[in-house]
Amino acid sequence: MMLVKKKIRCAAVTLCALLAVLVAAFGFHANSVGKATAAAVRPPVGTSMPILMYHSMLPPTTMQGTYIVSPELFEQDLQYLKKEGYTTIVMQDLINYVNGTGTLPQKPIILTFDDGYFNNYKYAYPLLKKYNMKMVLSPIGICTEQFSKANSDHITYSHVTWKELNEMLSSGLVEVQNHTYNLHKSNGGRLGASKRRSESVADYQKMLLADLGHVQDLMYQNTGVRMNTFVYPFGAISEASSDVIKQLGFQATLTCSEKMNYITKDAECLYGLGRFLRPPKIPPAQFFAKKINVIPKK
Ligand SMILES: [Zn+2]
Repeated sequence: MMLVKKKIRCAAVTLCALLAVLVAAFGFHANSVGKATAAAVRPPVGTSMPILMYHSMLPPTTMQGTYIVSPELFEQDLQYLKKEGYTTIVMQDLINYVNGTGTLPQKPIILTFDDGYFNNYKYAYPLLKKYNMKMVLSPIGICTEQFSKANSDHITYSHVTWKELNEMLSSGLVEVQNHTYNLHKSNGGRLGASKRRSESVADYQKMLLADLGHVQDLMYQNTGVRMNTFVYPFGAISEASSDVIKQLGFQATLTCSEKMNYITKDAECLYGLGRFLRPPKIPPAQFFAKKINVIPKK
C-alpha cells in the first residue's frame, strides 16, 4: 500500500515536471525577446554567473529524459568544467560575494539539483567527492520527511532522507535549499508555489508563509541548517510571493528561466536567478558552448 502511494505521488511529481516544461518554455521565449532588446541598448553589467539545473540521475539509457540524465553524462560535465577552469560554488558563496564578505573564483558555476531524489545521493554525490566539486540540492520537504520514515532506497522514486542529507552536508560539497514543504504539485488551480487566481493576496501569503516556514523549521531541526535560497517549483512565480520570501529571510531565489545571470553588489540581483536545464544525451562541449559560451581550450 505504501509502495502504491509512493508511486502515485512520484507520478504526480512527473506530471508536474511536464507542466514545468511549458512554464520554462514560455519563460524562455519571453526572456529571449526582452534580452534581445536590452542587449541592443547596453551590455550586461556584472559578473557572469551560470547556474545549471539537474533533477533525477539514472544509469539505464532507456530511462533518460528531459529531467533524467545519466551518471556518465554528469561525470563528463564535471570533467569538462574542471578542464575549462570552472569552479563550482554554492549559494552561500554567491551571497557572501554580493554582501561584500567573500570573493568569487575566476570562473564560477553553480550546479543545482531539484527535488532531492535518492539517486542524487547514490550517483551524483560520489562523483562530487571524486572531483571535489559542489552541488546545491533542493529537496521537497514532505518527500524527505516521508522517505526518512519509509526505509526505502529505490533509484527511481525514493527521495533523500535526513540521514543522507546530514552525511552530504558534512562533506562540505553539498548545500541544501528550500523547494517547499508540500507545494510541489499542481493542485486546485495552483501550480507549485504560485497564487490561485481565486484567492486573495492575504490568503496566498499566509499559505506560503506556513509551507515555506515549516520546511525551514524541519531542516533546521534535522540538520542545523537555515536555508538561504528559495527554489520556485516549476519556475511558477507569483508577484505576491516576494514579501513572504523576504519575510522568511531568503537572500536569493532560483527560477527555471533559461538565462545567464549577471551579478553585481546589489542584493536585489540575487532574486529571480535563471538556470539552464541540463538535458540528457547532449555532449558537454556542445551543451556548454551553446548555453554559457564556453570556448574550449585547444
Ligand atoms: Zn522541483
